[in-house]
Amino acid sequence: MSRKLNQGTVCVQSGYVPGNGEPRQMPIIQSTTFKYDSSEDMTRLFDLEDNGYFYTRLQNPTNDMVAARICALEGGVAGMLTSSGQAANFFACFNICEAGDHMISTASIYGGTYNLFASTFRKMGIEVTFVDQDASEEEINAAFRPNTKLVFGEVLSNPGVRVLDIEKFVRVAHGHGVPMIVDNTFPTPVFCRPFEWGVDIVTHSTTKYMDGQGVQVGGAIIDSGNFDWEAHAEKFPGLCTPDPSYHGITYTEKFGKLAYITKATSQLMRDLGAIQSPQNAFYLGLGLQTLAVRVARHNSSARKIAGWLQTLPEVKWVSFPELEGDPEHERQQKYLPDGTCGVMAFALNGDKAYVGRFMNHLKLATIETHVADCYTCILHPAMHTHRQLTDEQLAEAGIDPAQLRFSVGLEDPDDIMADIRQALDAAKL
Ligand SMILES: *Cc1c(COP(=O)(O)O)cnc(C)c1O
Repeated sequence: MSRKLNQGTVCVQSGYVPGNGEPRQMPIIQSTTFKYDSSEDMTRLFDLEDNGYFYTRLQNPTNDMVAARICALEGGVAGMLTSSGQAANFFACFNICEAGDHMISTASIYGGTYNLFASTFRKMGIEVTFVDQDASEEEINAAFRPNTKLVFGEVLSNPGVRVLDIEKFVRVAHGHGVPMIVDNTFPTPVFCRPFEWGVDIVTHSTTKYMDGQGVQVGGAIIDSGNFDWEAHAEKFPGLCTPDPSYHGITYTEKFGKLAYITKATSQLMRDLGAIQSPQNAFYLGLGLQTLAVRVARHNSSARKIAGWLQTLPEVKWVSFPELEGDPEHERQQKYLPDGTCGVMAFALNGDKAYVGRFMNHLKLATIETHVADCYTCILHPAMHTHRQLTDEQLAEAGIDPAQLRFSVGLEDPDDIMADIRQALDAAKL
């Protein structure tokens, strides 16, 4: 077929194509090791001379099929699964940066990633400068140092659902000869394909929409193959000079466009071991098959609910990029014209106690710290994630005491709205 397939088809068909008489569904290869006929066969694998499996910590066929499915959706050249989204972002950056290096990240990122960069990376000797994602190119340029090795951002930030100006950050990163990495968890490749905007590497917490059923924690890293490491070899010795821990292999020389993922697998996964289990990879593969259908529903329900919330006298404001007049709307139209996700924020006209009563009266929407799967869920930042902050500190952090984070699931949107309506009524009493 010469015609390019649409994402809904890629979700179902890519990564695994059964041969004659083989199982229709992707098999789970639940095995730690793989057997070989000769010592020489094994030697070639250890030398990375042959492609093949020898130990699941490094590679497993089920994991590779699922990684290939995500890679096809993103339009990359190679991908790998990790045990969590945290491990994906850790590996994605640590595959480039080492002690003594510096990187730049936008400040509006997932809290776990923020801690990883601000605290754990610092302990490892990697310094991270955070920039506002609305910073001008001059301001971002000013954050660069001679030892800056990459720039990181989230296409849609969790939980603020801010839209990254991808082209701006790519331009600045490439101007300094370093790659741009984005976390594409919230939009998924159904709504945004960052490589088409010049991004070099994409990461995912597959725990969210990709799995979609709330059954397993996982992550993925996909490489576009486009970044020219050799052109800036002095910045990237880990990729462009011999690796003494792997028989003196130089990844760029030996693997070309596959250098980055090969290094992350044969060096970082070998040594750090944050592998996804084949059973979990299988669940992820199932989730991916319905991804395009599910995220379309999450998003259309969220659009309907956000528009309706805006009309309610009990609601002070609604923040959702698809709403006309939302500060993120223009960028959403550019980068995510078909949709964003199912997550929004809104605030009620009332105090924290009223918000608490409203939440306690909800019957369908559950109180959870999670977002972005099939269950509608809600969280009150002032009383949960940010409860240590005073009202003044909340104001400084841009958080309304009556603000709620709302993740629209796959339930019928009319039932979700009816649930909100009855909880608002009950909370008044
Ligand atoms: C949840 C999340 C992560 C962390 O992923 P885990 O799978 O929970 O480790 C990273 N980035 C974003 C945008 C997330 O939403």
